Amino acid sequence: MAGKAVVLLSGGLDSAVAAAIAVHEGFHVHALTVDYGQRHLRELDAAKGVAIALGVKVHRILRVDLAGFGGSALTDKSINVPEECPSEAIGTDIPATYVPARNTVLLGLGLSWAEALGADAVFIGAHSVDYSGYPDCRPEFLDAFRRVSALGTKRGVEGKPVSIEAPLIRMGKREIIERGKVLKVPFELTWSCYIGGKKACGKCDSCTIRLKAFAEAGMEDPIEYEQR
Ligand SMILES: [Zn+2]
Repeated sequence: MAGKAVVLLSGGLDSAVAAAIAVHEGFHVHALTVDYGQRHLRELDAAKGVAIALGVKVHRILRVDLAGFGGSALTDKSINVPEECPSEAIGTDIPATYVPARNTVLLGLGLSWAEALGADAVFIGAHSVDYSGYPDCRPEFLDAFRRVSALGTKRGVEGKPVSIEAPLIRMGKREIIERGKVLKVPFELTWSCYIGGKKACGKCDSCTIRLKAFAEAGMEDPIEYEQR
Protein backbone atom coordinates (compact mmCIF):
# COMPACT_ATOMS: atom_id res chain seq x y z
CA MET A 1 0.00 0.00 0.00
CA ALA A 2 1.48 3.28 -1.12
CA GLY A 3 1.44 6.13 1.35
CA LYS A 4 0.98 9.84 0.87
CA ALA A 5 2.45 11.81 -1.98
CA VAL A 6 2.60 15.51 -2.74
CA VAL A 7 1.87 16.25 -6.40
CA LEU A 8 2.84 19.58 -7.91
CA LEU A 9 -0.30 20.47 -9.83
CA SER A 10 -0.08 23.49 -12.12
CA GLY A 11 -3.34 23.13 -14.00
CA GLY A 12 -1.46 22.15 -17.15
CA LEU A 13 -1.73 18.88 -19.00
CA ASP A 14 1.56 17.35 -17.84
CA SER A 15 0.98 17.81 -14.12
CA ALA A 16 -2.57 16.45 -14.52
CA VAL A 17 -1.15 13.26 -16.04
CA ALA A 18 1.50 13.05 -13.29
CA ALA A 19 -1.27 13.41 -10.68
CA ALA A 20 -3.33 10.70 -12.37
CA ILE A 21 -0.29 8.39 -12.30
CA ALA A 22 0.19 9.02 -8.56
CA VAL A 23 -3.51 8.28 -7.92
CA HIS A 24 -3.25 5.16 -10.12
CA GLU A 25 -0.23 3.97 -8.12
CA GLY A 26 -2.37 4.12 -4.99
CA PHE A 27 -0.88 7.18 -3.34
CA HIS A 28 -3.02 9.36 -1.11
CA VAL A 29 -2.44 12.46 -3.18
CA HIS A 30 -1.98 15.88 -1.65
CA ALA A 31 -1.99 18.39 -4.50
CA LEU A 32 0.09 21.55 -4.28
CA THR A 33 -0.57 24.45 -6.62
CA VAL A 34 1.64 27.50 -6.37
CA ASP A 35 0.17 30.84 -7.33
CA TYR A 36 3.51 32.41 -8.18
CA GLY A 37 2.06 35.45 -9.89
CA GLN A 38 1.64 33.94 -13.34
CA ARG A 39 0.11 36.34 -15.86
CA HIS A 40 -3.30 34.78 -15.63
CA LEU A 41 -5.32 32.85 -13.11
CA ARG A 42 -6.79 30.35 -15.59
CA GLU A 43 -4.18 27.82 -14.49
CA LEU A 44 -5.31 28.00 -10.88
CA ASP A 45 -8.95 27.32 -11.80
CA ALA A 46 -7.76 24.48 -14.02
CA ALA A 47 -5.78 22.97 -11.14
CA LYS A 48 -8.84 23.10 -8.87
CA GLY A 49 -10.99 21.37 -11.48
CA VAL A 50 -8.39 18.68 -12.21
CA ALA A 51 -7.90 17.92 -8.51
CA ILE A 52 -11.65 17.47 -8.01
CA ALA A 53 -12.00 15.34 -11.15
CA LEU A 54 -9.17 13.04 -10.05
CA GLY A 55 -10.72 12.61 -6.61
CA VAL A 56 -7.88 14.40 -4.82
CA LYS A 57 -9.14 15.26 -1.35
CA VAL A 58 -6.43 17.64 -0.19
CA HIS A 59 -5.44 20.55 -2.43
CA ARG A 60 -3.48 23.55 -1.21
CA ILE A 61 -2.92 26.70 -3.21
CA LEU A 62 0.07 28.55 -1.92
CA ARG A 63 0.88 32.13 -2.87
CA VAL A 64 4.57 32.76 -3.49
CA ASP A 65 5.10 35.98 -5.38
CA LEU A 66 7.77 35.22 -7.98
CA ALA A 67 6.27 38.01 -10.09
CA GLY A 68 7.84 40.34 -7.53
CA PHE A 69 11.19 39.12 -8.88
CA GLY A 70 10.09 39.14 -12.55
CA GLY A 71 12.53 37.99 -15.19
CA SER A 72 10.03 35.94 -17.19
CA ALA A 73 7.38 36.54 -19.82
CA LEU A 74 5.03 34.53 -17.61
CA THR A 75 5.39 36.84 -14.62
CA ASP A 76 6.24 40.20 -16.18
CA LYS A 77 3.71 41.78 -18.54
CA SER A 78 6.41 43.97 -20.09
CA ILE A 79 8.06 40.85 -21.59
CA ASN A 80 6.19 39.42 -24.57
CA VAL A 81 5.24 35.76 -24.75
CA PRO A 82 6.77 34.43 -27.99
CA GLU A 83 4.20 33.47 -30.62
CA GLU A 84 4.24 31.49 -33.79
CA CYS A 85 7.66 30.07 -33.20
CA PRO A 86 8.12 27.31 -35.79
CA SER A 87 7.73 24.05 -33.89
CA GLU A 88 11.16 22.78 -34.98
CA ALA A 89 12.75 25.85 -33.36
CA ILE A 90 11.08 25.24 -29.97
CA GLY A 91 13.61 23.90 -27.53
CA THR A 92 16.76 25.23 -29.20
CA ASP A 93 17.13 28.22 -26.86
CA ILE A 94 15.88 28.87 -23.36
CA PRO A 95 12.71 30.86 -24.10
CA ALA A 96 11.39 34.06 -22.52
CA THR A 97 8.73 31.98 -20.76
CA TYR A 98 11.37 30.36 -18.54
CA VAL A 99 10.62 31.41 -14.94
CA PRO A 100 13.89 31.83 -12.97
CA ALA A 101 14.54 28.68 -10.93
CA ARG A 102 10.82 27.84 -10.84
CA ASN A 103 11.15 24.09 -10.43
CA THR A 104 13.77 24.54 -7.71
CA VAL A 105 11.26 26.67 -5.81
CA LEU A 106 8.30 24.35 -6.50
CA LEU A 107 10.19 21.18 -5.59
CA GLY A 108 11.54 22.88 -2.46
CA LEU A 109 7.99 23.74 -1.35
CA GLY A 110 6.75 20.27 -2.29
CA LEU A 111 9.58 18.63 -0.37
CA SER A 112 8.89 20.76 2.68
CA TRP A 113 5.20 19.85 2.69
CA ALA A 114 5.98 16.20 2.03
CA GLU A 115 8.35 15.96 4.97
CA ALA A 116 5.91 17.78 7.27
CA LEU A 117 3.09 15.46 6.17
CA GLY A 118 5.08 12.28 6.35
CA ALA A 119 4.62 11.76 2.60
CA ASP A 120 6.99 9.41 0.79
CA ALA A 121 7.18 11.15 -2.56
CA VAL A 122 6.88 14.40 -4.46
CA PHE A 123 5.56 14.07 -8.01
CA ILE A 124 6.39 16.58 -10.72
CA GLY A 125 5.18 16.51 -14.34
CA ALA A 126 8.52 17.65 -15.81
CA HIS A 127 9.66 16.08 -19.06
CA SER A 128 12.55 16.75 -21.34
CA VAL A 129 11.42 15.40 -24.69
CA ASP A 130 9.33 17.76 -26.94
CA TYR A 131 9.78 20.43 -24.32
CA SER A 132 10.48 24.12 -24.26
CA GLY A 133 14.16 24.00 -23.34
CA TYR A 134 13.85 24.76 -19.62
CA PRO A 135 17.00 23.70 -17.74
CA ASP A 136 15.00 22.72 -14.65
CA CYS A 137 13.04 20.07 -16.58
CA ARG A 138 16.12 17.96 -17.35
CA PRO A 139 16.77 14.53 -15.80
CA GLU A 140 20.14 15.79 -14.46
CA PHE A 141 18.38 18.54 -12.56
CA LEU A 142 15.93 16.10 -11.00
CA ASP A 143 18.78 13.80 -10.02
CA ALA A 144 20.48 16.76 -8.35
CA PHE A 145 17.26 17.51 -6.47
CA ARG A 146 17.13 13.91 -5.26
CA ARG A 147 20.50 14.68 -3.61
CA VAL A 148 18.92 17.75 -2.03
CA SER A 149 16.16 15.57 -0.60
CA ALA A 150 18.68 13.06 0.73
CA LEU A 151 21.04 15.63 2.24
CA GLY A 152 18.79 18.48 3.30
CA THR A 153 15.97 16.82 5.23
CA LYS A 154 15.58 15.01 8.54
CA ARG A 155 14.11 12.06 6.70
CA GLY A 156 17.05 11.97 4.34
CA VAL A 157 19.54 11.92 7.21
CA GLU A 158 17.53 9.09 8.75
CA GLY A 159 17.92 7.12 5.52
CA LYS A 160 14.33 7.48 4.25
CA PRO A 161 14.51 10.44 1.87
CA VAL A 162 11.34 11.70 0.23
CA SER A 163 11.58 10.39 -3.32
CA ILE A 164 11.34 12.79 -6.22
CA GLU A 165 9.12 11.19 -8.85
CA ALA A 166 9.09 12.50 -12.41
CA PRO A 167 7.10 9.80 -14.21
CA LEU A 168 6.95 11.73 -17.50
CA ILE A 169 10.63 12.63 -17.68
CA ARG A 170 11.47 10.37 -20.60
CA MET A 171 8.11 10.54 -22.38
CA GLY A 172 7.36 12.61 -25.46
CA LYS A 173 4.30 14.84 -25.38
CA ARG A 174 2.30 12.42 -27.52
CA GLU A 175 3.06 9.56 -25.13
CA ILE A 176 2.03 11.75 -22.17
CA ILE A 177 -1.33 12.41 -23.82
CA GLU A 178 -1.81 8.74 -24.62
CA ARG A 179 -1.00 7.80 -21.02
CA GLY A 180 -3.40 10.45 -19.78
CA LYS A 181 -6.16 9.09 -22.02
CA VAL A 182 -5.75 5.62 -20.51
CA LEU A 183 -5.91 7.12 -17.01
CA LYS A 184 -8.98 9.23 -17.95
CA VAL A 185 -7.30 12.55 -17.30
CA PRO A 186 -9.87 15.36 -17.77
CA PHE A 187 -7.97 17.11 -20.58
CA GLU A 188 -10.93 19.46 -21.07
CA LEU A 189 -10.19 20.99 -17.66
CA THR A 190 -6.46 21.53 -18.22
CA TRP A 191 -4.97 24.80 -19.37
CA SER A 192 -1.64 25.05 -21.19
CA CYS A 193 -1.74 28.42 -22.95
CA TYR A 194 0.78 31.02 -21.75
CA ILE A 195 -1.51 33.91 -22.68
CA GLY A 196 -4.66 33.14 -20.70
CA GLY A 197 -7.51 34.65 -22.72
CA LYS A 198 -11.05 33.27 -22.81
CA LYS A 199 -9.82 30.60 -25.19
CA ALA A 200 -6.30 29.22 -25.61
CA CYS A 201 -4.40 31.28 -28.18
CA GLY A 202 -3.19 28.40 -30.36
CA LYS A 203 0.01 30.33 -31.16
CA CYS A 204 2.31 30.33 -28.12
CA ASP A 205 4.93 27.59 -27.70
CA SER A 206 2.81 25.77 -25.16
CA CYS A 207 -0.30 25.72 -27.40
CA THR A 208 1.84 24.74 -30.40
CA ILE A 209 3.42 21.78 -28.61
CA ARG A 210 0.07 20.67 -27.17
CA LEU A 211 -1.84 20.86 -30.48
CA LYS A 212 0.91 19.02 -32.35
CA ALA A 213 0.95 16.23 -29.77
CA PHE A 214 -2.84 15.77 -29.80
CA ALA A 215 -2.69 15.60 -33.61
CA GLU A 216 0.10 12.99 -33.45
CA ALA A 217 -1.95 10.96 -30.96
CA GLY A 218 -4.88 11.08 -33.39
CA MET A 219 -7.03 12.81 -30.78
CA GLU A 220 -9.05 16.00 -30.72
CA ASP A 221 -7.91 18.46 -28.06
CA PRO A 222 -11.16 19.13 -26.16
CA ILE A 223 -10.35 22.73 -25.12
CA GLU A 224 -11.31 25.77 -27.19
CA TYR A 225 -8.75 27.72 -29.20
CA GLU A 226 -8.78 31.15 -30.81
CA GLN A 227 -7.13 29.50 -33.79
CA ARG A 228 -5.69 26.07 -34.46
ZN1 LIG B 1 -1.32 29.78 -26.19
